[in-house]
Amino acid sequence: MNMMPHPFAEQVEVAGSQRATMLAVCLDLEGILVPEVWVNVAKQTGIEALRRTTRDEPDYDRLMRYRLDILDENGITIDDITAVIEAMEPLEESVGFLDSLERRWPTLVLSDTFSQFARPIMDKLGNPTLLCHTLVIEDSGRISDWTIRLQDQKRRTVEALRAMNLEVIAVGDSYNDTSMLAAASAGILFRPPDNVVEEFPQYPVTQDYHGLAAAIDEAASALGE
Ligand SMILES: [Mg+2]
Repeated sequence: MNMMPHPFAEQVEVAGSQRATMLAVCLDLEGILVPEVWVNVAKQTGIEALRRTTRDEPDYDRLMRYRLDILDENGITIDDITAVIEAMEPLEESVGFLDSLERRWPTLVLSDTFSQFARPIMDKLGNPTLLCHTLVIEDSGRISDWTIRLQDQKRRTVEALRAMNLEVIAVGDSYNDTSMLAAASAGILFRPPDNVVEEFPQYPVTQDYHGLAAAIDEAASALGE
């Protein structure tokens, strides 16, 4: 894959690389860098009920139980879902955008997805650092349960980074990102649904990677970068 030159190269050069890094960037995964995994599973399997995401259901445990029950009812295994995910591509221009961030600042991808789901698509993103959860999978391929690595891990990761004397810029799109955005030095929304925009008017809203890169630059400047 030819990753250079990309449209953000100029911004990278302007930033330089000699300054002391006092900033980290935390990005949500789905909706920010890659499409919603479950929406794609719904599309490929034709099971409309799987379209529900954290955008619709803020209670993650309830959402996951609901999803796993539907998989059981339809006999869908991890192999079926992995096949869907392997066919997915990162969002257009996301690879160049992510590369430009990683050249400038420590960049973490914080997701409520699962390591088994993420692996194929993380390869396509250039394998950035990902912190997420784990599925419990039976020998038959049935997904029986999930293990949350840490409750509210997005927020707590941001808090831990700030305890390490880093300013943090966080980017998300859904309910499950809002505690991370609140804990960050600066929070930014990317292509959020209307209900999140209405409930969280304090965060700037961006719709494309140029707008997001500009919002990150602005926040970084305000934080002394
Ligand atoms: Mg998301």
